[in-house]
Amino acid sequence: MKSKMEIMVTERFKRIKSHCNKCLQETNHFVIAMREHSDSESIDPHGPYSIDWSTTFTMLECCGCENVTLKRRFYFSEWDDDEIKYFPPQVSRQLPRWHDELPKEWVELIKEVYTALHADSRRLVLMGARALVDLYMNHQLGDTGGFQQKIKQLASEDLISKPNKECLEAALDAGHAATHRGYNPRVYEVNQVIDIVENLLQNYVLKSAAENLKEKTPARSEKSPG
Ligand SMILES: [Zn+2]
Repeated sequence: MKSKMEIMVTERFKRIKSHCNKCLQETNHFVIAMREHSDSESIDPHGPYSIDWSTTFTMLECCGCENVTLKRRFYFSEWDDDEIKYFPPQVSRQLPRWHDELPKEWVELIKEVYTALHADSRRLVLMGARALVDLYMNHQLGDTGGFQQKIKQLASEDLISKPNKECLEAALDAGHAATHRGYNPRVYEVNQVIDIVENLLQNYVLKSAAENLKEKTPARSEKSPG
């Protein structure tokens, strides 16, 4: 049963559907506040013709997780579509929950990569993702040689599998193309690169987790069934 306060909130605020950055999907949002600034200008002092525009700010709160977003809608009578922006920008993915178990320098860089991702700066995302792979390889092998040589070495030392090597080469080439060949990837391609790079970085976290499990798990006794 809903509390009196919940009923008051539900009745007081209008509800609309909007994307939630925490729930990572479209959810019901309360319209907490709304402000509209509008103006117009006559383009024919002797006729009825005028152009008009308005900016509407809407503060939204997710009914599920209570995350708050500001939506700005700009209307201009001469345009076909309104310009809509969100602050903070709408995001499709969040930092992986294990990111703070990475070394400090990697954490700082992966946060910057996500900042670029949420600002839709796709080329910067790929450049940053490439730099993350470089940090990982230098940690594993030392700063010796170029990317290609280090990937070969990772594979020859069984630090990555053959399929992982191919994925990593594709991700690094996308980063190289963004840096040197003016390549501007599409959103799903950026997400593919991040998937590959995070898969690599998570190896680092899982290695520590495996060592911890080995240390904490009681040893099997002779009589133990399994
Ligand atoms: Zn939410």
